[in-house]
Amino acid sequence: MKISVVIPVHNEEGNVFPLYQELLTTIQKIGSTYEFLYIDDGSTDLSYKNIQILAEQDKNVKYIHFSKNFGHQNAVFAGLEKSSGDAIVIIDADLQDPPQLIEKLYEKFIEGYEVVFAQRTYRSDETWLKLTSAKLFYRFINKLSDVYIPEDTGDYRMISKKVKDVICSMPEQNKFIRGQIAWAGFKQIGVPFERKGRRSGKTNYSYAQMFKFAYDGIVSFSNRPLHLATYAGFLISLTAFAVIIYSVYQKYWNNNTVQGWTSIMLSVLFLGGVQLICLGIIGEYIGRILDNVKDRPNYVIKESNFED
Ligand code: UDP
Ligand code: MG
Repeated sequence: MKISVVIPVHNEEGNVFPLYQELLTTIQKIGSTYEFLYIDDGSTDLSYKNIQILAEQDKNVKYIHFSKNFGHQNAVFAGLEKSSGDAIVIIDADLQDPPQLIEKLYEKFIEGYEVVFAQRTYRSDETWLKLTSAKLFYRFINKLSDVYIPEDTGDYRMISKKVKDVICSMPEQNKFIRGQIAWAGFKQIGVPFERKGRRSGKTNYSYAQMFKFAYDGIVSFSNRPLHLATYAGFLISLTAFAVIIYSVYQKYWNNNTVQGWTSIMLSVLFLGGVQLICLGIIGEYIGRILDNVKDRPNYVIKESNFED
């Protein structure tokens, strides 16, 4: 039994060594063989240097150094593609995901679960806005989407090689890996844990990036926004039709027209707004179609210590 640990790293110089120590302690308790895959996602601090130091000391430390920042999801994907273990753990580098939990994930794993995800019971040190938006997001996406994405989970989880192979066979851009894993099916279970604040450094996810990530999750897992746009279109057309009849009636039977600046302003603004929203929804989908048609690689490797 070999456990691969996939660790996306972006400016985590203060966390690389402590994380390694804690991971090692945990893996030794489990008693399996291991590999730690550090994916340096275009760090601009000493993260990559520190990873190389680790790799010199420990042959089981593998690393990939991206040519620039390709984003967290692509870093995780690269790690999955290169991993060779029977079980694969995805974990954040900032020690917000406690490595000790891997023992519990592993317990469930050997009971036969192919996906064991870590589920937050509570998140300290996060802003109110982040907590609320995360909560709303999971509610929302589960309303819209056809696959159930477990609430209060991140990417911290243990998956089997089989599940990993499914994920790696999905070439899509704008990845939403936790959703793709949910989509893959298999026997899945959650293990609760308490999420702490990050050990050192600051968050690498801005609110803009979080929104993009949320969009990716929704657009990749649901076409319902498009349906909603269509429904809204029908509803508004129906209303418009009624108003047309009313206007014609007023003109030819009642001779009671002119006036009505307010109603014209209202309808012009309202229709303009609805049309722009619908165009925006369609645009989100078209943009992602374009991304996928371009078929660019998800990441570019500058350096790594893999033989192949
Ligand atoms: N990360 C990454 N690339 C990025 C942003 C983040 O590889 O562009 C890594 C980061 O080093 C960390 C994990 O992804 O290991 C989660 O990021 P972060 O802690 O900043 O997100 P948060 O926990 O605040 O949501
Ligand atoms: Mg974090």
